[in-house]
Amino acid sequence: MLRDGQVGTCGVRRRTGDVLETATFATVMQHVDANERKPFYHFRPGGRSLTLAAPGCTFACGYCINHRISQYGRESSVDWDAEPVRPADVVARAVAEGADICFSYTEPSLALELTEAVVALARPAGVRVMWKSNGFLTPEAVDRAAGLVDAVNIDVKAAGTAEHLRLTGAPLEPVLDTIREFARRGVWLEITTPLIPGTSAAPDQLATIARAVAAVGAQVPWHLVRFTPTYRMTGHDPTTPADLAEAVRIGHAAGLRHVYVERALGAPGRATRCPGCDETVVRRGVWRLEASELTGGRCARCDHPIDGRWN
Ligand code: SF4
Repeated sequence: MLRDGQVGTCGVRRRTGDVLETATFATVMQHVDANERKPFYHFRPGGRSLTLAAPGCTFACGYCINHRISQYGRESSVDWDAEPVRPADVVARAVAEGADICFSYTEPSLALELTEAVVALARPAGVRVMWKSNGFLTPEAVDRAAGLVDAVNIDVKAAGTAEHLRLTGAPLEPVLDTIREFARRGVWLEITTPLIPGTSAAPDQLATIARAVAAVGAQVPWHLVRFTPTYRMTGHDPTTPADLAEAVRIGHAAGLRHVYVERALGAPGRATRCPGCDETVVRRGVWRLEASELTGGRCARCDHPIDGRWN
């Protein structure tokens, strides 16, 4: 419980008297790009998202490429550069652009109230709302969010609590609980794992993470993200394509049907293959969907269903 006048660790909530104030009715960006860029590969492929980023995050990852916006309130060098948003304006722009809405780049659970206000207007307009989240939510927050968002992509950044604590400053188990609960509630779920040197990049860590994802569901898409030296982790090399290829192999060995790498393995790393006949059924470029040979969510060649929300 915050004391009067105290700001939370996140830096974007403050108690003033009996009122809890939030700075997250604001965004540092508003741009439209492909759902594939979030990344969502099995949710409305070829669709576009109006992307918002309310300032702040519940984690302090040393590799954060978005630290200039995620660490507002934690680091004095990060200036406030967010603009207030009106949910009606956000939804009107999404409708005009024929786009859905995604909260990304920072931690959307800190902007739960903004999400609620946006969803209240977006849902009647037929606009879907997605989150790209670190998954560190209380059960109460998951309960509220699961009734709001149509899809989530959640990071699993380490295999064990000690490694996760060292990397993010938070324990792992609440993240896994969040993933299981979103899946149980029927929210479309994709998982992302950045290959961080010293933690998740180790093959045994990747294998443990892959098994945890497969335990939620073999159909859950698993996105593997190349490490790039930045922020407080500039002394490490980028992940090699060979290590990413090995990570893909580990994912398939754990039973996952859909394991993806955005760039380093070329077009095959982004392609969806049919689990029935192994034919490529969805092709993607780095920036967008290129071709889908699905018919009603099924392989056009062998009729095997491919899990996803395809329209
Ligand atoms: S959870 Fe994501 S946005 Fe937050 S600090 Fe970690 S990498 Fe950055």
